[in-house]
Amino acid sequence: MPREKTVVIGGGLAGLVISILLSRAGFDVSLVEKKLYPFHRVCGEYISREVYPFFKSIGIDLQELSPAQISRLAISSVSGKLFSCNLDLGGLGISRYVLDDFLYRKARALGVNFELGHKVNNTDFRDGLFNTVLSDGREIESDFVIGAYGKRSNLDRSRSFFYRRSPYLGVKYHIRTDFPDDLIQLDNFEGGYCGTVKIEGDRYNLCYLSANKHLSRLGSIQALEREVLFRNPFLKAIFTKSEFLLDKPEVINEISFEKKSLIEGHVLYCGDAAGMISPLCGNGMAMAVHSAKILSDTLVESYRLRREVLEAQYIKRWRDQFSKRLYTGRIAQRFFGAGFVSELTVSGLKNIGALSNLIIRETHGTPF
Ligand SMILES: Cc1cc2nc3c(=O)[nH]c(=O)nc-3n(C[C@H](O)[C@H](O)[C@H](O)COP(=O)(O)OP(=O)(O)OC[C@H]3O[C@@H](n4cnc5c(N)ncnc54)[C@H](O)[C@@H]3O)c2cc1C
Repeated sequence: MPREKTVVIGGGLAGLVISILLSRAGFDVSLVEKKLYPFHRVCGEYISREVYPFFKSIGIDLQELSPAQISRLAISSVSGKLFSCNLDLGGLGISRYVLDDFLYRKARALGVNFELGHKVNNTDFRDGLFNTVLSDGREIESDFVIGAYGKRSNLDRSRSFFYRRSPYLGVKYHIRTDFPDDLIQLDNFEGGYCGTVKIEGDRYNLCYLSANKHLSRLGSIQALEREVLFRNPFLKAIFTKSEFLLDKPEVINEISFEKKSLIEGHVLYCGDAAGMISPLCGNGMAMAVHSAKILSDTLVESYRLRREVLEAQYIKRWRDQFSKRLYTGRIAQRFFGAGFVSELTVSGLKNIGALSNLIIRETHGTPF
């Protein structure tokens, strides 16, 4: 059995899943996460059902969390015209607060060593070993380092995409509202879109991606919502008639959909750190889980081989699975983000249906 020491940086879905898999395979895993579980993060919290067989296969039953069962999609145009369809595969509505904490407990029970509340400040590869430096000054030596630290981190300063400004910001709320239990609705507004979906209990997730330019012009999140989102009557209704459950919105900016490198300085990236798909596609969480599985499979099969061989295998497997999805996601993001949907309504709502079906088909994988 391998006992290779592995440091995983970041404990989102990708980091937690790869820690669970490698630990089951015998690796000695330490995961460093800068926050403490459970915690909220910006995410639409709709996870494609394609992950379901995988989790079952490793003895994790997501139904234990009583997620919402989502089987229908509706999309509204900027002016509030609505298209709806059934989702072939569908998904689950579950908060990251609950899901990530659940996986963290599973990983801990398997023997993963957690360093919580500490940032990784640096990792360096020399003479076949990594030296990873935590924010409290401690250092961890390891055979492998996995970068699962999400879309953008302090550690990305050496990666080229970091210096290209990204025009999007993401905002998330949990609300109580009057909304169907089995529906995910994407409401468009100028320069963005907002999703509503049921999660566990009687909660709903309300999460949007918006062009930064509105916030710079209007000065506050509240003004952005009032002046831009409320022009879509669905959004005005949901924002003004719901009970907001978090003390304050979760907000992130600088969300980048640019191509990223899969490996740098021998650090192996997975999840959003390897490439982020537009949230519009509702597939980022499933991709984070799937990329963790691909990387774990590669490590377990090939950890004895030369590092360059293992790395080439990972790059091939990752590209075969995700390159096309990310490409389609980038194009879809450009269309939706640019108010394309409002123009489509003029030429007929059927086009929105055709477009959304195409996006779902081209950006989702099959159950794995
Ligand atoms: C607005 C928005 C809506 C979305 N909606 C959906 C959706 O409905 N469905 C879907 O499938 N996907 C959605 N996504 C995408 C999804 O959230 C991501 O694809 C997914 O969370 C990626 O998981 P990850 O593990 O790669 O990264 P993350 O979940 O971001 O985890 C990365 C972790 O690394 C930690 N970290 C970062 N730097 C360091 C460091 N230096 N040291 C230690 N820890 C560090 C962070 O604290 C974080 O916990 C959405 C994304 C956005 C922005």
